[in-house]
Amino acid sequence: ENAATLAVFDGHGTTADGHLVPLLANVGGAKDAAKAAALGAQGVGLFRTEFCFLERDTEPTVEEQAAAYKGVFDAFPGKKVVLRTLDAGADKPLPFLTDATEPNPALGVRGYRTDFTTPGVLERQLEAIATASRESEADVWVMAPMISTAAEASRFASMCDAAGIKTPGVMVEVPSAALTSASVLRHVGFASLGTNDLTQYAMAADRQLGPLAELNTPWQPAVLRLVQLTVAGSLEEGNGKPVGVCGEAAADPALAVVLVGLGVTTLSMTARSLAAVGTVLRTVTLEQAQELARLALSAPDALDAKAWVRAKLPVLEELG
Ligand code: PEP
Ligand code: MG
Repeated sequence: ENAATLAVFDGHGTTADGHLVPLLANVGGAKDAAKAAALGAQGVGLFRTEFCFLERDTEPTVEEQAAAYKGVFDAFPGKKVVLRTLDAGADKPLPFLTDATEPNPALGVRGYRTDFTTPGVLERQLEAIATASRESEADVWVMAPMISTAAEASRFASMCDAAGIKTPGVMVEVPSAALTSASVLRHVGFASLGTNDLTQYAMAADRQLGPLAELNTPWQPAVLRLVQLTVAGSLEEGNGKPVGVCGEAAADPALAVVLVGLGVTTLSMTARSLAAVGTVLRTVTLEQAQELARLALSAPDALDAKAWVRAKLPVLEELG
């Protein structure tokens, strides 16, 4: 759709009582980033780098990669851009990285795990990111997808350090990482909850299968509990490391309020949802968001959680 026809988010993400929650965009490349900036994104919370190279049979050179990354960074001078390293897998193949014959792609060699089978690609990507970052004015953060253990987080942080990248983080989208978030976060500076995969894995329900859509919602009590545990782990770590959300959950204005109530520090979403999420967030105080989070957690199932929270947010009706 055309950015000109969409509502523009104006200002900064905040609750009614001034608790700031930066509203960021999910992007796949420079064109998306320009559109997100025009729609008022305060930065990028998820740059899906694999989208830059889906047409490629061979690994892009470090120079080609750096140019693609810089195209996104340059749309947000002085702003935060969270880049995710390649999240290829048999379901989202990059021929130079993935094995299309895997019987069970969601549980396969994907995301950070491709470093087990194709070493070198991640190092070269980090080199390209460091180069592009030096040549741009964006505040570049870098995270790895599909981190499952603290040891993986530690190794990723070392690789970032070796490349000269000072802001390593992890996606929390595998339940094991959510359940052990204190020890995972010990090694990195931030976490970003990928609620799409976190839901798929918590519910053992392939996110691509229509008949499982009712299971596959981040309103599931199990998913909300995993978000709560991840934030609790970060607080246990004691140094207030940021925990954002970059899955589709953040684009649902009612759920976004619940996530803020659960303690997440940023919300990243498709740019067209920024205005609605920003509008609804401004109608509640942090304490009210926390109350709504408790309400959602107390619901017996996803449908009730959603209905109960939505009933307490009359502004949703104005948004249509
Ligand atoms: C997620 O899993 O929630 C996520 C943001 O990443 P992707 O949708 O690209 O897997
Ligand atoms: Mg994911």
